[in-house]
Amino acid sequence: MNDLLPDARHPIALPDHDLGYQYDPRVVAGLHGEIKLSQNVETYCQCGGKSPFMIFNNQAEEPAWCPCRPYRMQIRRIDRYLKNSGIPAPFRYKYLHDFREHYEDGQPIPGAYELKMRLNTLIDTVQNSESTSGSAPGANTTLKPNKGFYFWGNPGGGKTYFSYIALNELMFHFVRPGKFISLSKSFQEIRHTFDEDSVMHGQALQILENLSTVPFLVIDDFGVQRNTEWELEILYNLIDSRYANQRLTIVTTNQNIDELKELAQGRIYSRLIEMCYIIHASAPDYRERGVRRNGT
Ligand SMILES: [Zn+2]
Repeated sequence: MNDLLPDARHPIALPDHDLGYQYDPRVVAGLHGEIKLSQNVETYCQCGGKSPFMIFNNQAEEPAWCPCRPYRMQIRRIDRYLKNSGIPAPFRYKYLHDFREHYEDGQPIPGAYELKMRLNTLIDTVQNSESTSGSAPGANTTLKPNKGFYFWGNPGGGKTYFSYIALNELMFHFVRPGKFISLSKSFQEIRHTFDEDSVMHGQALQILENLSTVPFLVIDDFGVQRNTEWELEILYNLIDSRYANQRLTIVTTNQNIDELKELAQGRIYSRLIEMCYIIHASAPDYRERGVRRNGT
């Protein structure tokens, strides 16, 4: 053992709100910035960032892991989760600081403040538990944020955009995978699995299992007026297993949650109100707002 180095299996003592990595928004490759080590961890790094992140010290009999390694592995995981999340590439590295709370004229965007506050509360849960437990990075995998969002309002209110940001933030802070789906596309995908000519043939259960267990799920464009009994049953089973597994779910929709009371004997409704904060984005869409402003 080398006394001069922190034990690489344990985290470097970091101040609150330092995860050991951070997002640097300076543009790389024209699309987004990158997640990199925080400055505190950077000062301990002796491997120069070269995989497999080891230190070769003359005095040590064996090469040792560089203290940066657990943090670099976390960054790799976050990048991989992002890539597989279903979030379109231009929105993969959007975080809360990209989220607008105000219109250009300075008026608050309805619902935006509440969303931001709720998301910050979730994130604080992680940071507090990490700084008080002193556990190794990645050890927070059993920590489950409890409630997601049922985010409803008319089109144009930025609901989908916010859901990208929420998912990005959750994956970034919890270092757990997340998935973004559109409900109608997912139903289509499941239907294809019954087609013998499809490469997806026979995979319905696998798809549903993945959606039921992924730690964070965004169901975008959740609309149920036109759904068949078959679809409603699938939807209920999905919501119910996420509820049972205590997985965080974010729903964006144009529908007031009261409209769900009549569906599937009210079962979808009753699950969702337990799993989600109901947030109304009463924002008029930008175009409509422009008209109103010009008209008054
Ligand atoms: Zn290093």
